[in-house]
Amino acid sequence: MRGRGELPNMTEIAIVGGGPSGAMCGEQLARAGHSVHIFDEHLAWEKPCGGGLTHKAVECFPFLLDNPYPKKLVSSIELISSNEQSVMLDMSHPIVIYSRTVLNGMLLERAADAGCKVQRSHVISVDTAAAKPRYCVDGEWRTADFLVLAAGARNRLLPGTRPLERDELEMTQGYFVPQTCDAITVKFLPHFEGYIWSFPRCDHLSVAFAAAWLRTPARSCAHIYRASYTKRIFPPRARNFTATFCRRRANARFRSAP
Ligand SMILES: Cc1cc2nc3c(=O)[nH]c(=O)nc-3n(C[C@H](O)[C@H](O)[C@H](O)COP(=O)(O)OP(=O)(O)OC[C@H]3O[C@@H](n4cnc5c(N)ncnc54)[C@H](O)[C@@H]3O)c2cc1C
Repeated sequence: MRGRGELPNMTEIAIVGGGPSGAMCGEQLARAGHSVHIFDEHLAWEKPCGGGLTHKAVECFPFLLDNPYPKKLVSSIELISSNEQSVMLDMSHPIVIYSRTVLNGMLLERAADAGCKVQRSHVISVDTAAAKPRYCVDGEWRTADFLVLAAGARNRLLPGTRPLERDELEMTQGYFVPQTCDAITVKFLPHFEGYIWSFPRCDHLSVAFAAAWLRTPARSCAHIYRASYTKRIFPPRARNFTATFCRRRANARFRSAP
């Protein structure tokens, strides 16, 4: 995003968001010689997310595999249908699975090593009406030659757009279970427009329900509860997590991830 008028020299670049997009964009711009400032309100943080990187991603960016950060390589995926039929798929190239805190931290560290200034701050607003874009951070309006919005799918910053509403999204309710295994699992349930997935990381499972929750009838939630409690996708130590979720859903007080 740039301000109206002449194309400015891209010397000062501000990036809002230090997730995978913002951090990698910042690193490449800094390596190309630009002065880059990355703002993220959380910096490296965990979120309900698989954290799996595909072979294509690793081929494009080999450092995603060749680094000392903890990760898990998974070569099998089990798909379980709603009537409990299952198939195990073996992949010719592994999926590389990270905790998001680790992945985001590594990418931000690379950005900082390339010369980006990385700052933990919330950008409140942006203004693209002037010749140079402006952004408001820490109570102060600043100017950049170029502004990159990499603040995720639900950010409210892009002028002329609105964030997606909850009923337009499939949402995920996720849990981190303190055990691991060697295959990704994706399970479908009867009478439920969504699925459950489990991504093994090196010291825990990232498990989640993904669905259009606002369009999901309450009886389907009860079904999830019964199915997931008794079926093999949730290992014994995960059952409390599952029960917690279903109670929250029943009381309509559940939280969901963007
Ligand atoms: C449930 C789920 C599972 C997923 N599983 C996978 C997977 O296994 N593999 C995969 O490749 N992808 C997966 N994804 C997708 C992946 O999470 C996204 O594609 C990726 O995070 C997008 O990166 P991003 O940098 O664009 O945005 P984000 O990761 O959303 O980063 C945006 C950043 O901007 C910051 N921010 C937002 N607003 C502001 C503000 N105003 N000021 C300052 N900072 C701000 C936030 O703190 C955040 O760090 C999953 C997504 C979900 C929801």
